[in-house]
Amino acid sequence: MKAGVIAVQGDVAEHAEAVRRAATAHGESAEVVEVRDSGIVPDCDALLMPGGESTTISRLIHREGIADEIRDHVEAGKPVLATCAGLIVLSRDAKDDRVDALGLVDVSVDRNAFGRQKDSFEAKIPVDGLSEPFHAVFIRAPLIDEVGEGVETLATVDGRPVAVRDGPVLATSFHPELTDDSRVHDLAFFPESEVEA
Ligand code: GLN
Repeated sequence: MKAGVIAVQGDVAEHAEAVRRAATAHGESAEVVEVRDSGIVPDCDALLMPGGESTTISRLIHREGIADEIRDHVEAGKPVLATCAGLIVLSRDAKDDRVDALGLVDVSVDRNAFGRQKDSFEAKIPVDGLSEPFHAVFIRAPLIDEVGEGVETLATVDGRPVAVRDGPVLATSFHPELTDDSRVHDLAFFPESEVEA
């Protein structure tokens, strides 16, 4: 499979490594390409939207013409894993004029809301589809404060959604790429089978 990591800003290398590991665990190999220009996404089977700074990522993907290609990718039903800032950029509403949200995940988010309580924290959380809890790392994480009807909540912390699936997009407010457990990448790209952690 060809996996594109949106690489205008954010933790790109970690996602590249995690998707390679997930593919290997499924007996496939992932060709990982870093996306900084338009023209690459249309050839990708899967996309990763990393964490980072959503205002910067939003500005650059629109400027480079990548935003419309991401929309076409999702509308074609191809999978995306979006984490933290990636979730903010794909949301319906980020409540911040500097983020031109793509509306591909029907949730509204409050940027840095978890962060206001505590800058970063870690928690072992149950995730639907995984038999064992997942060690989730939250860094200035967005709070998902409204979830649309077609959106499935896969994990919560204190009753608030932190992992959701909307059609082909799996989005987390935490950073599954920052541990060496690639089961959330599995869920996004190989949803039919779970492998050992
Ligand atoms: N709070 C950041 C933002 O608004 C996201 C933080 C992250 O991706 N770790 O972009």
